Amino acid sequence: MKDSHGRTIDYLRISLTDRCNLRCIYCMPEEGVCSLSHEDILTLEEIETIVEVAAEMGFKHIRLTGGEPLVRKGVVDCVRHIVETPGIERVAMTTNGILLPQMAKDLRAAGLSRVNVSLDTLDADQFRFITRRGELADALAGIDAALEAGLNPVKVNAVVVRSLDQDLLEFAKLSLDRPLHVRFIEYMPVGESSGVDGCGWGPEDVIDSDDVVRIVSERAQEAGLGPLLPLNEAAAEGWGPARYFHFEGALGTVGVISPMSRHFCKECNRLRLTADGKLRPCLFSDLEYDVRTPVRAGDRDGVKTAILEALGHKPEDHFDIVGTERKMSQIGG
Ligand code: SAM
Ligand code: SF4
Repeated sequence: MKDSHGRTIDYLRISLTDRCNLRCIYCMPEEGVCSLSHEDILTLEEIETIVEVAAEMGFKHIRLTGGEPLVRKGVVDCVRHIVETPGIERVAMTTNGILLPQMAKDLRAAGLSRVNVSLDTLDADQFRFITRRGELADALAGIDAALEAGLNPVKVNAVVVRSLDQDLLEFAKLSLDRPLHVRFIEYMPVGESSGVDGCGWGPEDVIDSDDVVRIVSERAQEAGLGPLLPLNEAAAEGWGPARYFHFEGALGTVGVISPMSRHFCKECNRLRLTADGKLRPCLFSDLEYDVRTPVRAGDRDGVKTAILEALGHKPEDHFDIVGTERKMSQIGG
């Protein structure tokens, strides 16, 4: 399926819930977002119907996200249903990993193939500071559980925020001994991110991905690991806009995702579905198309029309649009 700018759109990112068991400082306020009421949020059956219609239209890849997708009751059955939907080739999830020790095996058995675990620091105190309520050991256990369950690839996504002063080399070293794909993501001005000092997102907190690669590569050479070497995207089985590197002999890779320094809109292949049933053509724009009304009325043609509308309004580029009304946890990052 093509959008009006000739891009093939075959990837739907679905926010299963706006709720979360953490409160990352750049994503959610301490007291949480004003959660959607039960009736506002799509039921899992409604989500499954939207996926069926999307698959009939040519969507092949689904990512489940949130909020925290693993806090949504029934998520394993939902994964199974989506995996079994004709036309869907791969189902992935983005999670903070905290519940993976209990759930990774069941998710794998239900057909989940790949998982991205979000982790911004390897320091236990800093982890508590960033997430406001989480324990690093639980997130690390989640990564172990994902690998043990046979999820593949397992990617570790770290948002790089200058004032957090993260140890980037320690992260990159996670790729040495295990098939982990570590990706550094530029900090984005989504949903009035509260910022590490509570003063809001600021451009001074963004570190350009090229600088991240340079810093990691230089520090790695000082530590005797050798430089980061470029790889093609297939090496880490990406579907998206990351650029990949590796250390010689490493089992995993190191990638960077640069939404701020290099717009990758030309290669954009996705639509987003919010937990309350709005289709969003672009992360950085608050343009939304209601799909909850038709799906709730059992109107599959109406669902198709909403998808076509959203596709038809995908902007060519996000140009100068930075910042959105909705928080990342509500849009589904
Ligand atoms: N709870 C899950 C998790 O943390 O992986 C899924 C939802 S979370 C909103 C998805 C991703 O968005 C996480 O990797 C998070 O770090 C990222 N994110 C949230 N706010 C961001 C921001 N302002 N800039 C860049 N990434 C952000
Ligand atoms: Fe929750 Fe993920 Fe947002 Fe952190 S980034 S508060 S884990 S939704």
